[in-house]
Amino acid sequence: MPTPRHYVHLPLLAVLLLGCGESNFEPVAARPLEPPSTYRIWWGEVQECVGAWAPFGRIRWYEAEQIHNIEAGTDHRGAWKPPHSIYIDSEWVSFEPVVKHEMVHELLQRRDHDSLFFQACAGL
Ligand SMILES: [Zn+2]
Repeated sequence: MPTPRHYVHLPLLAVLLLGCGESNFEPVAARPLEPPSTYRIWWGEVQECVGAWAPFGRIRWYEAEQIHNIEAGTDHRGAWKPPHSIYIDSEWVSFEPVVKHEMVHELLQRRDHDSLFFQACAGL
């Protein structure tokens, strides 16, 4: 039986699992995002957790009003675009699991979710 905690995460998880790292997404009204200081802390935590290191400064951050998956017809909370661009929905820029999830994409340099690090290091 899922716990209430799982219910909270299910909609997010479903959205993210549809492929936030895929190439067929369209950010709406995207603009550069100056990463909050908390992002550096989260980056440090993700690196420790994954066991891989890369310079924080290589990441290009954007926030967007909407991140639309053209193919699936769904919206994402965040998206990673190789090699080093991360898009976060404006309403979710302070939500740690979403940001960390995209950080795992960045660190692993892979689009798929075929890694335990997403759950272990980002919580989703
Ligand atoms: Zn993802």
